[in-house]
Amino acid sequence: MIYDVVVIGGGPAGMMAAGRAGERGARVLLLEKNNQLGLKLLLTGHGRCNFTNALADKEEMINAYGKNFKFLFSAFNKFGVEDTISFFNNLGVATKEEDRGRIFPLSDRADDIKQALIKYLKKSRVEIKLDAEVKRLITENKKIVKIILNDGHELFGNNFIISTGGKSYAQTGSIGDGYSWLRKLGHKIIAPRPAIAPVTVKEKIVKNLEGLSLKDVKLSVYKNKKKIISRTGEIIFTADGLSGPAIIDLSERIGELMPGPVFLKIDFKPEIEFAKLEKKLQNDFHEAGSKMFKNYLAGLAAPKLTLIIIKLTGINEKKQINAVTKLERRALAGALKDFTLEIKELKGFASFKLDFFK
Ligand SMILES: Cc1cc2nc3c(=O)[nH]c(=O)nc-3n(C[C@H](O)[C@H](O)[C@H](O)COP(=O)(O)OP(=O)(O)OC[C@H]3O[C@@H](n4cnc5c(N)ncnc54)[C@H](O)[C@@H]3O)c2cc1C
Repeated sequence: MIYDVVVIGGGPAGMMAAGRAGERGARVLLLEKNNQLGLKLLLTGHGRCNFTNALADKEEMINAYGKNFKFLFSAFNKFGVEDTISFFNNLGVATKEEDRGRIFPLSDRADDIKQALIKYLKKSRVEIKLDAEVKRLITENKKIVKIILNDGHELFGNNFIISTGGKSYAQTGSIGDGYSWLRKLGHKIIAPRPAIAPVTVKEKIVKNLEGLSLKDVKLSVYKNKKKIISRTGEIIFTADGLSGPAIIDLSERIGELMPGPVFLKIDFKPEIEFAKLEKKLQNDFHEAGSKMFKNYLAGLAAPKLTLIIIKLTGINEKKQINAVTKLERRALAGALKDFTLEIKELKGFASFKLDFFK
């Protein structure tokens, strides 16, 4: 048997490709190494699958894909946001729009998107083979002629679609097989790097802040003393660095700046300028003069953070605040507005845990 199209990898990309080829009349085989299709798809949008965006126009959507966005023009022209929504509606998935134009299935279940794609595969008469890991591609004149599965089976096709996914969340099956195959076939592969990832930092001091979650702090990334990018939002300290939406948003840009010394400045009080904060401290210290420094600090920062601030500023925790010197006050404002950490690395592909399946 020679298939018209053999699709390797049963994630959303492979399912769409196989379904569409089948719909167009091709004899299609879809191969998936797991015992089920679309495992990563189940993780998306915290298990709810934010599958498109209603606000973004085509240009905006394409620009979000970084430097090499242009190759997506024709794809988005042929199948845009509205097409995506009606595609799933027609397969029986009711959808809803949430803030920032994010579109989810009404049921809040990513599995509904997966089941819709499986329905599409069936309608398109795609043959599906699970537990079928492709081990080798056999080529003649740089054209794939057959593939060999883990159990030694050989499969033949006139066309092959490689949709083996990226390298993130390897537990879902995508370990980057496609990259090495394509490299061998003569394609230039740009090494993938993690994005949307937490960071680790050089300062061991963060261990003391582990678990501390702070909203509305401002993060600024510096390289060569130049501010590159800032973001205000939520952060969570981990045992060796930082996670949370704000850092995850910045992580792609941080990845571009690595290797090399890259610093992260945390402003815990972005709502007030440095000079005004100094002035406020001066007034407070004057007004509540006999208060102990550590007690004053308790009203200003989270308990875990106050311990670090005491350490960083060197101010004796028992000192009465009216005795705090100008220099110490400035150090305190600095610790609150310019808390600086050096980034060690972006957490790698392997560092993610599949909590969702626990
Ligand atoms: C936590 C998380 C949340 C996300 N949230 C969203 C979201 O809300 N919205 C959104 O649009 N995107 C989201 N994404 C991104 C989205 O999951 C991916 O863009 C999408 O899964 C990519 O689809 P794919 O088919 O290219 O690859 P994958 O989904 O990785 O599928 C590739 C498939 O190929 C199979 N495979 C690999 N190698 C072989 C082989 N040798 N032989 C046979 N089969 C093989 C794998 O087992 C896998 O099933 C999220 C991702 C993660 C990790």
